Amino acid sequence: MDKVCAVFGGSRGIGRAVAQLMAQKGYRLAIVARNLDVARAAAGELGGDHLAFSCDVAKEHEVQNTFEEMEKNLGRVNFLVNAAGINRDSLLVRTKTDDMISQLHTNLLGSMLTCKAAMKTMIQQQRGSIVNVGSITGLKGNTGQSVYSASKGGLVGFSRALAKEVARKKIRVNVVAPGFIHTDMTKDLKEEHIKKSIPLGRFGEPVDVAHAVVFLLESPYITGHVLVVDGGLQLTM
Ligand code: NDP
Repeated sequence: MDKVCAVFGGSRGIGRAVAQLMAQKGYRLAIVARNLDVARAAAGELGGDHLAFSCDVAKEHEVQNTFEEMEKNLGRVNFLVNAAGINRDSLLVRTKTDDMISQLHTNLLGSMLTCKAAMKTMIQQQRGSIVNVGSITGLKGNTGQSVYSASKGGLVGFSRALAKEVARKKIRVNVVAPGFIHTDMTKDLKEEHIKKSIPLGRFGEPVDVAHAVVFLLESPYITGHVLVVDGGLQLTM
């Protein structure tokens, strides 16, 4: 049976690194992001028979259409990675309501919508594996990231509950919670200062997280787990 994996947020950063590892392991990939050109470039880099799709995860009809298109063009999606995410860091008192809504809609509602859309096929197949990309801030909190942390903390509760709900259908749901990783999302941070608080003394690379995502995707007896990939940062938070 074909192994088809949809990576939302697969065009850049962590999602792109996951897609690269999965392609090397023989999966067929759907690279999903809002910017189709960038998603196409990422899918093209993988070589082989992979496809790109444009979709805003915060929009239910786009998510539904994307699943229909993926299944038509690639086959049944039995592996799902939710790596689409945004941050709008600021102290709560300065955070605009629109920025609260966009973070919650992309980071939390978006993953709920893609998981829901994936369920139909996974339940029919009695088979499926999902990894949602959370954040260490969702477990520990971080100044200037209260809304972002809430979106990522919510993702943990959602993923654990869903893991219970669908375990009998042989579908697994896990979370990877990264610390600071070198991607577009962190490019403006003061790395020299921040890395002093990371026991391993450096930011992670997207591939460091990708290995953890692929491990959970393929681990047949792990569900409802939160795997922290942070260079030991949580020990100091
Ligand atoms: P990047 O900014 O490098 O990549 C984000 C990806 O998500 C892009 O592919 C982007 O494509 C896509 N995306 C963003 N918004 C949407 C949307 N509404 N619909 C569909 N796709 C979307 O981020 P990272 O790789 O750093 O982050 C990946 C995940 O990891 C995120 O959930 C982030 O919160 C989480 N994370 C990152 C950390 C880090 O240090 N980098 C630390 C902890 C967690 P496009 O813009 O074209 O839509």
